[in-house]
This record gives sequence, structure tokens and C-alpha cells, in this order.
Amino acid sequence: MEFREVYCSNCKKVLGRYNTKFYNEEKVGELVNTTHSTHIRKGHQVNIRKFEKN
Ligand SMILES: [Zn+2]
Repeated sequence: MEFREVYCSNCKKVLGRYNTKFYNEEKVGELVNTTHSTHIRKGHQVNIRKFEKN
């Protein structure tokens, strides 16, 4: 299975993993700006990266 992983470089932690089947890039971008917005507001570097798990 493939996931999109939302990772904060400043906190050095994974904020969430979203199955690519159900979440496209746009949807994950939305989540970053809503659910994870506290990091963005603090000026943290939040990245979306692909994560594969079998
Ligand atoms: Zn952060």
C-alpha cells in the first residue's frame, strides 16, 4: 500500500499518513492547511512524501 506521509522537519515527526487510494495530493494539501496548520503557523517546514508499506 502506498501512503502520503506528512512530515514536519522542525518537530522531526510524522504528522499523519494517508492512503493514496483515498487521499489525492490536493486532499492531503488541504489537511496540511487545516488539521496540521499549527505547524505551518509556527513557520515549520512541513513536507509531503511518499511512503510505501507492504
Ligand atoms: Zn512542527
